[in-house]
Amino acid sequence: MVATPIGNLEDMTLRAVRILSEVDLIAAEDTRGSIKLLNHFQIHTPMTSYHAYNKIAKARTLTQALLDGKNVACVTDAGTPGISDPGEELVKMALDHGIKVVPVPGACAAVNALICSGQGTRRFCFEAFLPQEKKEREAVLEELREETRTIVLYEAPHRLKKTLDLLLECLGDRSLTICRELTKKHEEIRKTTLFKAAAYYREQEPRGEYVLVIAGQDRGELIRKKQEAVRDSISLADHMKQYTDTGMERKEAMKAVAKDRGLSKRDVYRMLLEEEAQT
Ligand code: SAM
Repeated sequence: MVATPIGNLEDMTLRAVRILSEVDLIAAEDTRGSIKLLNHFQIHTPMTSYHAYNKIAKARTLTQALLDGKNVACVTDAGTPGISDPGEELVKMALDHGIKVVPVPGACAAVNALICSGQGTRRFCFEAFLPQEKKEREAVLEELREETRTIVLYEAPHRLKKTLDLLLECLGDRSLTICRELTKKHEEIRKTTLFKAAAYYREQEPRGEYVLVIAGQDRGELIRKKQEAVRDSISLADHMKQYTDTGMERKEAMKAVAKDRGLSKRDVYRMLLEEEAQT
């Protein structure tokens, strides 16, 4: 699995050049695109196409070639194979046949956007492209609403405006870093917010390749919102009953209720006494 540059040819690693020169065959997502890269580095290895539309059938052919003792390198149009690009099925099949799979690391738009985003890098999730199918997209957006890790998304320019609007609607205003055309001439890394970016791109036509890096939901805030929702949806007495009905001791139930509602045990005790006094 050989990574290739995402825009700047200087990001081709020495190892990638050597491996691509030494293997018997290069499985390329787009042979017409990759030939330019190979020519630039004077690599003369034969190529075969391996793309999204033939990924299963071709993975079988490539696995057979590997079983026959051939060395095959997998490359995509740009960046790291298998990351929003073909590669996954080939790797699975190769491993299932006991074939050794080796990463030859290099550029990946998601990782490079993340490290320059100014958003939290310790914990992050990569959601690739949001699904185009409405129901599926809504399900993903719903999951992202409560995501506390930094969120990394890919987006194509013609869908950027719509995606920013959807993200704003679903996640609310959040810190966002827009990473555009990384490693290229018009590289741009702009830390802004979902609200500002959505407004900006209503006026401006998006151009180039984009990675969106969005701040995750604040954990404390998430807990506070959940506690608020519990307080709004069920009375204290009914909440207590839910626990005591399971056989829980009153003291334990008060502790659990206090935690669910974001209150102290003392508050719960006092409020229960007040409620009882009123009835
Ligand atoms: N395998 C690639 C990788 O390792 O990053 C990703 C391939 S995916 C089909 C293409 C998407 O990656 C683009 O639509 C864009 O979201 C992102 N991307 C690729 N190159 C980029 C670049 N130079 N700057 C910003 N985003 C880029």
